[in-house]
Amino acid sequence: MTGGTIAIESVETLLVDLPTIRPHKLSMATMNGQTLMLVRVRCSDGTTGIGEGTTIGGLAYGGESPEGMKLAIDTYFAPQMVGKDANRVSALMAQLNSSIRENRFAKCAVETALFDALGHRVGLPVSELLGGRQHDRLPVAWTLASGDTERDINEAQQMLELRRHCIFKLKIGRKSVREDVAHVAAIKRALGDSASVRVDVNMAWTELQAHYGLAGLVDAGCELVEQPVAHIEAMARLTGKYPIAIMADESLVGPASAFSIAKLAGADVFAIKTEQSGGLQAAQQVAGIAEAANIALYGGTMLEGAVGSIASAHVFSTFRELRWGTELFGPLLLTEEILTKPLEYRDFHLEVPSSPGLGISLDEERLEFFRRDKVRKLNTPKVSTH
Ligand SMILES: [Mg+2]
Repeated sequence: MTGGTIAIESVETLLVDLPTIRPHKLSMATMNGQTLMLVRVRCSDGTTGIGEGTTIGGLAYGGESPEGMKLAIDTYFAPQMVGKDANRVSALMAQLNSSIRENRFAKCAVETALFDALGHRVGLPVSELLGGRQHDRLPVAWTLASGDTERDINEAQQMLELRRHCIFKLKIGRKSVREDVAHVAAIKRALGDSASVRVDVNMAWTELQAHYGLAGLVDAGCELVEQPVAHIEAMARLTGKYPIAIMADESLVGPASAFSIAKLAGADVFAIKTEQSGGLQAAQQVAGIAEAANIALYGGTMLEGAVGSIASAHVFSTFRELRWGTELFGPLLLTEEILTKPLEYRDFHLEVPSSPGLGISLDEERLEFFRRDKVRKLNTPKVSTH
């Protein structure tokens, strides 16, 4: 590079395996642990940036896996990034987008690292680089997914006592509609008005099952249902039929899909995920489309660890209104801390750091301990199907 330009010097990736506090049961997989793909970008001025790529249940949720992201970044992203101007994040992402199809999660991880480094360089938090935050703290929902009603109720009551969460999302869709609705009703009855109860079906219902399910959920006091069916046309037919909000999640995979869903009036709410969107700026574009279409916003998670979750928090903090809050609880599902200072969860909210970059730092010793290439492998499978 010629005089004065700050160049990207290296792009490194590593896989970190961390156990979860309990099995996390979704309609498509049961998670007993989480794998984080971490990327670190080093620049010629001595700044570094970190990013994270994480999926739900390996390949159970989408086409990318942490292992695949590592391979894609090492083989295809890194050679195109090294030597480039580290300050021109948008230009570099545009170049990567034109030469690499799909790979939204890997792109998000890389863009996060570039913004983190830029933030350290100019002394600003990532939220300010993205146009400026409008919120310093974000409401955080907790997901009840133990698979057992009593255990879920106890877990929710504990969260309420700790003042950590008062919004609960129940993972359903594995059992019959009747059993699932009874499970939701029992939890809502036990928690009463002190808690908001929502469900995520993860596309498990047919359209006909969804009609029965939505009617039952309304009676149970549930206020929102996330992706009850797979197809967006069916989502559109269900939206507005029952006094319960319909939220798009799996159908929402970036700005183009956001536009299609908005055109079909296929949802009341968008669960915006930075990785699913294809990056931090892409997530902001999704939010812009939602706002223009009068679709409410919710900050979703791919169960990222601390790096990915706080990157999302910086993005979500720039949204004008987050009517349904966020679910950035991923780090709380993991038993191990990988930051020198943990993220701050209190009074039902997550604080968005105000120090430069992402505002977090990795505990290098812990990382060395948990990185996959340094550890004798655990015998327990990370993901089991059912
Ligand atoms: Mg979901």
